Amino acid sequence: MTEQPTQQTADDTVTFEDLGLRPELLKALTSLGYEEPTPIQREAIGPLLTGADLLGQAATGTGKTAAFALPVLQRWAELGPDRESLDPVALVLVPTRELAVQVSEAFHRYGRDLGVRVLPIYGGQPIGRQLAALRRGVDVVVATPGRAIDHIGRGTLQLGDLRTVVLDEADEMLDMGFAEDIEAILQETPEQRQTVLFSATMPSRVDGLVQRYLRSAVRIQMGRASTPPGEAPKVRQSAYVVARSHKPAALGRILDVESPTAAIVFCRTREEVDQLTETMNGRGYRAEALHGGMSQEQRDRVMGRLRAGTADLLVATDVAARGLDIEQLTHVINYDVPSAPEAYVHRIGRVGRAGREGVAVTLAEPREHRMLKTIERVTKQRITMEKIPTVADLHARRLELTKSALHESLLEEDYEQFRVVVETLADEFDIVEVALAAVKLAHEAMGNAPDDEVIPDLSEAAERPDRKREPSRGGSRGPASGAVKLFVGLGRRNGVRPQDLVGAIAGESSLSGRDIGAIEIADRFSLVEVPAGAADEVIDALRSATIKGKRVTVRRDRDRAPRRERW
Ligand code: AMP
Repeated sequence: MTEQPTQQTADDTVTFEDLGLRPELLKALTSLGYEEPTPIQREAIGPLLTGADLLGQAATGTGKTAAFALPVLQRWAELGPDRESLDPVALVLVPTRELAVQVSEAFHRYGRDLGVRVLPIYGGQPIGRQLAALRRGVDVVVATPGRAIDHIGRGTLQLGDLRTVVLDEADEMLDMGFAEDIEAILQETPEQRQTVLFSATMPSRVDGLVQRYLRSAVRIQMGRASTPPGEAPKVRQSAYVVARSHKPAALGRILDVESPTAAIVFCRTREEVDQLTETMNGRGYRAEALHGGMSQEQRDRVMGRLRAGTADLLVATDVAARGLDIEQLTHVINYDVPSAPEAYVHRIGRVGRAGREGVAVTLAEPREHRMLKTIERVTKQRITMEKIPTVADLHARRLELTKSALHESLLEEDYEQFRVVVETLADEFDIVEVALAAVKLAHEAMGNAPDDEVIPDLSEAAERPDRKREPSRGGSRGPASGAVKLFVGLGRRNGVRPQDLVGAIAGESSLSGRDIGAIEIADRFSLVEVPAGAADEVIDALRSATIKGKRVTVRRDRDRAPRRERW
């Protein structure tokens, strides 16, 4: 077996064209918004086009489907329109029916201008339809092993013309007990076929298959990320497991809780960038799109808006974000799990620079969970699984912020001009009711739009047995036990960022950054959680220090304002 070490650098700019794909395939990829090959595609497509066997260690989310589907399509197209046989030239074996459907849809999308006939066959689907389609003739079959064996036994699936066999997610297929079926199928295929095996892990049983059925295979292993030079960035890394349809809502809620000064959200394709930008703007966030299809002038304008603070969310593809260095960036959000650990490391390296704390958040679909694990293993960094804040969490947090704003206003005592309103209403209503109505108006005026979308929490389903969930630092869940909240009289309007507060507290008191809990930044003030035992020390230290060049009010948030007679 020839070893082909994976090599990626940030400036590698191999295009799909460079890989030698046909115009029809290139057109399909452009229309899907794929800007450039993922690392596995970069490595695999070339050798596969030459007919070589290949062993790829890659998890879902790396773009491995296109890595094998594009060469299969190209090699099939090279046979020309005169191919007379009705039997398939490629067989892809997958562990589940869902994957069979997904993979055959991918073949359809990539091969739509080539007129390829792709058939998924799996158990549970009426066999009659499959038989009819097989009789009419197919070019590519994507099957679960059990149903494939069934058709081979009936003589309805003929493998004599096969040029390529792909074993996708081989480790999963073996775990599901398909070992014998797979071997039986492989025995039915022509000797000189091309054999391609993808597996997220390489247990010895998979290796056994490789030894028996692959010849001089090119070996590609994703995930040898080089740690960035110098000190590893200080980045708090977390992930949420959420269904695709709930991602926009989940993103909104996470942004509300995290209150980033500026965030970049990475998407896979241009279409996704445009769609998400529109969705987030519709949800009241100031989002700007950045992708490879934009002119330099458009890009400059977007960057200008981000720097000036008139936009706070940049939605971008990896290609478009290359070389970007945004000083104010506090959060990197992966709208999908990146296609390789390298991409992940590269993305999150945009925050946490120069000793400042950064935050990396990844939204993973349940099936992408394994890729997250791979990233953890390769980067040797912990990604904490979090629960999406619930509607109740969010309401509680928003009420808390409204209360703190009112509290501040009460201390400022700058409301005499409104006394007449209260006194007049007090003739007609109970004073508490007047207060309640005023609080409601204040709450709504703070931009608290209702958000009642229920986002199913899928983290349990995808939970890793070897990980215990850790409490979040992003905290909408109230102070951790033994912690108190401090009110700091500087907020977003003063340009305060979480790292400024962490820096000031760690610099002026005996606490270190790790001791500091959740930080919430509102327009005019911030709330910081610190261990109860250190609260007085931190208050004293901050009162005699300056933050962002200013002396600020600092006190326990739970301190009640002196009760006023009229309230
Ligand atoms: P897979 O690992 O094959 O399941 O692919 C994961 C996702 O990445 C799928 O949604 C693909 O449509 C998408 N994808 C694959 N290749 C690319 C690419 N080169 N650029 C953008 N998205 C891609």
